[in-house]
Amino acid sequence: LKYSKEQAERKKLYNQVQETRGNIRVFCRCRPLSREQASAGHATVVDFDAAKDGYIGILPIGSAKKTYKFDRVFLPKDDQENVFADASPLVISVLDGYNVCIFAYGQTGTGKTYTMEGTENNRGVNYRTLELLFRMVEDRKETFVYRLSVNVLEVYNEQIRDLLVDSPASKRLEVRQVSEGANPVPGLVTAEVDSIEEVWKVLQTGNNARATGSNNVNEHSSRSHCMICITVAAKNLINGECTKSKLWLVDLAGSERLGKTDVQGERLKEAQNINRSLSALGDVISALASKSNHIPYRNSKLTHILQDSLGGDSKTLMFVQISPLEQDLGETLSSLNFATRVRGVELGPAKKQI
Ligand code: ADP
Repeated sequence: LKYSKEQAERKKLYNQVQETRGNIRVFCRCRPLSREQASAGHATVVDFDAAKDGYIGILPIGSAKKTYKFDRVFLPKDDQENVFADASPLVISVLDGYNVCIFAYGQTGTGKTYTMEGTENNRGVNYRTLELLFRMVEDRKETFVYRLSVNVLEVYNEQIRDLLVDSPASKRLEVRQVSEGANPVPGLVTAEVDSIEEVWKVLQTGNNARATGSNNVNEHSSRSHCMICITVAAKNLINGECTKSKLWLVDLAGSERLGKTDVQGERLKEAQNINRSLSALGDVISALASKSNHIPYRNSKLTHILQDSLGGDSKTLMFVQISPLEQDLGETLSSLNFATRVRGVELGPAKKQI
């Protein structure tokens, strides 16, 4: 009874918050000016006049305003809680058996990591997601038994790196292998988790592993995709039905294009690989929308890994992160154009309604 009441409430909330327009949502978030930028009086190009209706205007100095429409446009003053409130119905649907992907896309420095990971005092989508999932698991314990497990990996230069195995810290984790089929990429270390504290430990381990072996951690992070997968195995105690679903939380590599002066060696290879995987992501979504017979999942590691979580009745949320500064205008327009392409399409008909 408690579950049906909660589900009815959520359905109402979901319908209020989300338009019933396919399974992909795009939220636009603009980073605030840093204190130094604000005091230096940097020019900004973003117009938020119609943000509450999902519009964002870009005002290139000396040319006409360009307007983009998204499912949500957050103001620089919107905090982590506001942002998560709009994402939470999607997060909860993983407990109902849906696969869900949440991405942060944008130029380096626009707040992708801030949105997903957040800071110690201002936790982002990742932590809030897990906190909410564990709360819901507790709330629903009379109807469901859930088992949650976590993988943390990064994709750098088209190579998958398991962040729970490469790090010496992972040896201290009590890692149990979950049942066959739960692992999103064969061979990854899967940590079964029972509480938010346990998950937090696992994520910290992943983060530490990310930092090892690179001279400049920030640079390395901006050139790799950081991927967290939460697998939810559910058993309905009333009808005995079992489901397994996945929630991916992905902090993508920076989408900026390479400067003309910076086109050699390792940096060129990195840039080409980033370009390839981000365009592959756009291509997969377009191919799904046009119901093409061939969906090019295998064109990049990123899309290959996400294969069964994109399409069908999976749900996708992309945060397109932008900078308000005039100096970043080119990258901002390019990110908004990418996000518009992604948003313009549906990821197949929803089989189930929540
Ligand atoms: P990215 O991951 O896209 O490279 P970061 O998340 O590292 O960008 O953000 C760059 C800087 O801006 C960080 O210092 C971050 O804390 C800050 N920042 C980004 N978005 C916000 C925000 N919405 N509010 C406050 N600070 C932010």
